[in-house]
Amino acid sequence: MNALLKKTLLEAGADIVGFADVEDILAPEISHLKRAVSIGVSKNLNEGTVRFLLSLKNRAARLLKEEGYKYLSIPADSDRIKNAFIAKLYPLFPHKIAATSAGIGWIGRNGLLINPEYGPRLSFATVLTDAPLETGSPIEESRCGRCRLCVEHCPSKSITGEEWSREKPYIELVKLKDCRSFKKERKELAGKPNCGLCINICPYGRKDFKKKVSAA
Ligand code: SF4
Ligand code: SF4
Repeated sequence: MNALLKKTLLEAGADIVGFADVEDILAPEISHLKRAVSIGVSKNLNEGTVRFLLSLKNRAARLLKEEGYKYLSIPADSDRIKNAFIAKLYPLFPHKIAATSAGIGWIGRNGLLINPEYGPRLSFATVLTDAPLETGSPIEESRCGRCRLCVEHCPSKSITGEEWSREKPYIELVKLKDCRSFKKERKELAGKPNCGLCINICPYGRKDFKKKVSAA
């Protein structure tokens, strides 16, 4: 089942696919689904990306259904869908938890999932299932190391500089209120609602950073 899911999703345009054992970390409401399929694409999370991830997670769900397994797919923008059952699940199970549990990456100082190849430039959907999938090795702690670029460059000083680990999943990495106020002000003053500096500055996944590494 692992190979079939991975092949199908990669051929359909996913950039990364991982499998996680989430038995011990799911909320009771969904704990009968012990495995997660984490599907990542190297795109900003805009409407087009949400639609694309929707089609990928539907493919995964179809395959699981055909094989007789239960599934619950969580869309990329589940945190933005108001009053939906799935939106209530999102705080219980953000996509980043599936991705770290699958070994795809860690949570960086910027609060985003960091993958060694794509950096913080991935958007995710997740499909939970009772299929007995083989799973990857979870990443237990941050691999940001001494890097503090996002902390130093954040214009609103919203990034606390703390380091994530699985043992302290709720540590405050980003003061979201300050980040949002900054972006709101920026939109009002300059018509630009987004910032994204903490994504752009991260050396992981940056093409110019790769060149520097290979030239060294
Ligand atoms: S989006 Fe901008 S303001 Fe918000 S945390 Fe990232 S760098 Fe800071
Ligand atoms: S910029 Fe550096 S500290 Fe920030 S998330 Fe990326 S690797 Fe981690």
